[in-house]
Amino acid sequence: MKFATKAIHAGISPDPSTGAIMTPIFQTSTYVQESPGVHKGYEYARTQNPTRHVLQENIAALENGKFGFCFSTGMGAIDAIVKTLKPGDEVISTNDLYGGTYRLFTKVFQQYGIRFHFTDLSNSANLTALLNDKTRMLWIETPTNPMLNIVDIEVLANIAHNYSPNINVVVDNTFATPYLQNPLNLGANTVTHSATKYLGGHSDVVLGVVVCNDAALAEKLGFIQNSTGATPGPFDCFLVLRGIKTLHIRMEAHCKNAAEIANFLASHKAVKKVNYPGFASHPMHAVAAKQMRGFGGMVSFSLKEDSIQAANKVLSATHLFSLAESLGGVESLIGHPATMTHASIPLEERLKTGVTDSLIRLSVGIEDVSDLIEDLARALG
Ligand SMILES: *Cc1c(COP(=O)(O)O)cnc(C)c1O
Repeated sequence: MKFATKAIHAGISPDPSTGAIMTPIFQTSTYVQESPGVHKGYEYARTQNPTRHVLQENIAALENGKFGFCFSTGMGAIDAIVKTLKPGDEVISTNDLYGGTYRLFTKVFQQYGIRFHFTDLSNSANLTALLNDKTRMLWIETPTNPMLNIVDIEVLANIAHNYSPNINVVVDNTFATPYLQNPLNLGANTVTHSATKYLGGHSDVVLGVVVCNDAALAEKLGFIQNSTGATPGPFDCFLVLRGIKTLHIRMEAHCKNAAEIANFLASHKAVKKVNYPGFASHPMHAVAAKQMRGFGGMVSFSLKEDSIQAANKVLSATHLFSLAESLGGVESLIGHPATMTHASIPLEERLKTGVTDSLIRLSVGIEDVSDLIEDLARALG
């Protein structure tokens, strides 16, 4: 099946008890057994839920993977992946990763004896320099937040696996979505998503997913999912299943609108620099064009007047772009990394990664792009 067909049909069949064409919300905590141990495959809802099962099958198919797992949030999914490691194991990670992931690695897991290295993975020599016999995981994010940096998944996965086939190459595919990028096809072992973003797509649910191909890894993930219990409720699974049915048409619209807005911003006299992997001038444009089927819906830009005040003026003047954290919904959002998502990062570190005082991040929605451009033009003055 092609992507659009999979989005609507993979793992989904009419409910056998009623014929309901859409997957029902199985709002139950337990299931009646005929006699002890004799049941229909469902015993208790932390362990199995039919609505969740369908979502897991669906997302695995979209990522071209064999095994899918859902968690109550994106962080719950990432937490489960790290829990496949043991004390003494080492992780090499990109240095501009999602703030919540950085916090989980350094403030939760480091104290249990797992060691994390953070480096600029756009230069593969940095990966080679850190690989050692304790390395068990490579953590990749591409495109990154909020600088829209791109790293070459295939090149990095090859380097890691040539060093040791035991390294789990993980890609957080939240920004690209399976419609634009399939890390498992590029050599990654594991893919994770905050389905809160584009997969759900309507800013009405938080949920996380993990997909992999290796049966031993899947067994571990399933064990952790059931043992630690960060599973999503059936209504949340239903919302994400509903969102995914339109992922392909939403992503086309996000990509188209973001490209037009990036071009508008690049030609505006108040704008200093636009970060958008679709520009030929983006330092990793060729890699983005190779591993992605579109450049996504995220754009960030800095102002010529590089101050928090100048950014605030723009942030408080838009009407259609709502000032909020998160991304990936049908509606356009505007955010200020320096005071919002990246406020806890020391100034010097923040400036080093390009998150300057005036940097503004847009999650471009699927409204009419001329209205969105008019909104930005008015706010920029
Ligand atoms: C939002 C996000 C997460 C965390 O997901 P939650 O659903 O908020 O827990 C992880 N990675 C990336 C790239 C994200 O944008």
